Amino acid sequence: MKVIVFRLGHRISRDHRISTHCGLVARALGADGIVYSGDQDQAILDSVTRVREDWGGKFSVAYEKSWKKVVKDYKRKGYTIVHLTMYGMPVQKKLSGLRRKGKLLVVVGGEKVPWEMYEMADFNVAVTSQPHSEIAALAVFLDRIFFSKELDKKFSRAKKTVIPQERGKKVIGK
Ligand code: SAM
Repeated sequence: MKVIVFRLGHRISRDHRISTHCGLVARALGADGIVYSGDQDQAILDSVTRVREDWGGKFSVAYEKSWKKVVKDYKRKGYTIVHLTMYGMPVQKKLSGLRRKGKLLVVVGGEKVPWEMYEMADFNVAVTSQPHSEIAALAVFLDRIFFSKELDKKFSRAKKTVIPQERGKKVIGK
């Protein structure tokens, strides 16, 4: 399964940490890349790219000004558009159908999501119907869609790798 995350409506003044974390969570939990829209913010792209360069794996990082263009382009490429929103249908009822789709663009919003996003999505999916966070919604969605198998993912060409320890920190590489 191919999964690209789309972080909609990044705001340069307020969302630095949360948008960076969307990228880091997407990469760590098995997605193939992230696209950002909203304010253009090279620092976000650089932060996520730097993590990929140090810790390995293939993970694309891109920016596109027009969110509609992203959705239309991915639809044209055969992706199913899954918009994560508290107002959508329960994720647990949608997973098996979504796993059969093969290519997903998983959209997470910011403060205000344009109404057309709900219309353009193939699926509006809720990770509970309670308000919380794009990072949490994304993490739960990815873990469910991949049956937790992403927890064992190996990252190729890593400069740094953690050797898990009961206590302390062990990292090989530089
Ligand atoms: N009222 C906003 C809305 O849903 O349009 C909530 C914005 S919330 C701070 C930012 C993003 O987190 C949302 O756009 C959505 O992608 C995600 N999110 C928050 N709660 C969610 C939930 N229960 N299920 C799925 N996604 C959620």
